[in-house]
Amino acid sequence: MSLVIVGSIALDTVETPFGKVNEVPGGSSIYASMASRYFCKTKIVGVVGEDYPTDILLLLNDNDICTQGVEFSKGKTFRWKGIYHDLKQAETLDTQLNVFADFDPQIPENYKNAEFVFLGNIDPALQLKVLDRMKNPKITACDSMNFWITGKKEKLINVIKRVDILFINEDELKMFTGEKNIYKAAEIMEIYNLKLLVIKLGEYGALALNKDLFFFTPVYPLKKVIDTTGAGDCFAGGFMGYLAGQGKFDEMTIRNAMVYGTIMASFNIQDFSIEGLKNITKQEIRDRKEKIKRSVFF
Ligand code: AMP
Repeated sequence: MSLVIVGSIALDTVETPFGKVNEVPGGSSIYASMASRYFCKTKIVGVVGEDYPTDILLLLNDNDICTQGVEFSKGKTFRWKGIYHDLKQAETLDTQLNVFADFDPQIPENYKNAEFVFLGNIDPALQLKVLDRMKNPKITACDSMNFWITGKKEKLINVIKRVDILFINEDELKMFTGEKNIYKAAEIMEIYNLKLLVIKLGEYGALALNKDLFFFTPVYPLKKVIDTTGAGDCFAGGFMGYLAGQGKFDEMTIRNAMVYGTIMASFNIQDFSIEGLKNITKQEIRDRKEKIKRSVFF
């Protein structure tokens, strides 16, 4: 089954303790789609400006990602600038929405029947428009970040009320609920009737929670991490890609999706931008899965 992803398409300038890159491919939908395409047919929705390098879109197409839903608009591409002091949390130095400021997402006809939809980190007003314009997806999920939690919380709540799965990192969950204990915070989220809450715990792993499930996955252990930008998007991309590839949302599929999400994030953080996601083999994915599996077997 196929997966439609909406999110930012960005030119990122990022500094980490291991170096600096200028105006490289980034944005939630780029990261998520480069992760999900290993598991399912992936189609993205978004907007770029006249300055966006077309070779990035060609690279996506070469990786079997459909870009028919990407609009070229007059103006400049979305830009994000961030610095990591310790690779845990980026400090945002600059966000320029540019062409995203008045983007009205048009969904191509051949996207509308997709069974799985991932609303990547972007203005929740755009996430809502995409939801409205899809026909009848089987499973929908959304992700967000502090920028929108502080800037557009009411709209974001409207998105959360309508999706099945919410991906959120620990700090954002605490910020969103005003509660410091993650399990109490998860309880507060029950009012939104999500089918699944996925809490990302950074270098420690991720938790999936609902009334029947409490599942934790550790991370794949890496001795060198270069740049964590997009880790959350790759986690969600791997997760949603696996669900769409299997066409299911049962407990075993969710448990496996958590591990595939973790694996795709681990490849991403080994290099800047989308470099770490480019040439992953099926065998490498299997090897990482085996290692994570053994780490929790007792
Ligand atoms: P992550 O590290 O998973 O939070 O994702 C980082 C990516 O999110 C970068 O490639 C940025 O271009 C993109 N990004 C940063 N700020 C925003 C924002 N306010 N809205 C949408 N995307 C953003």
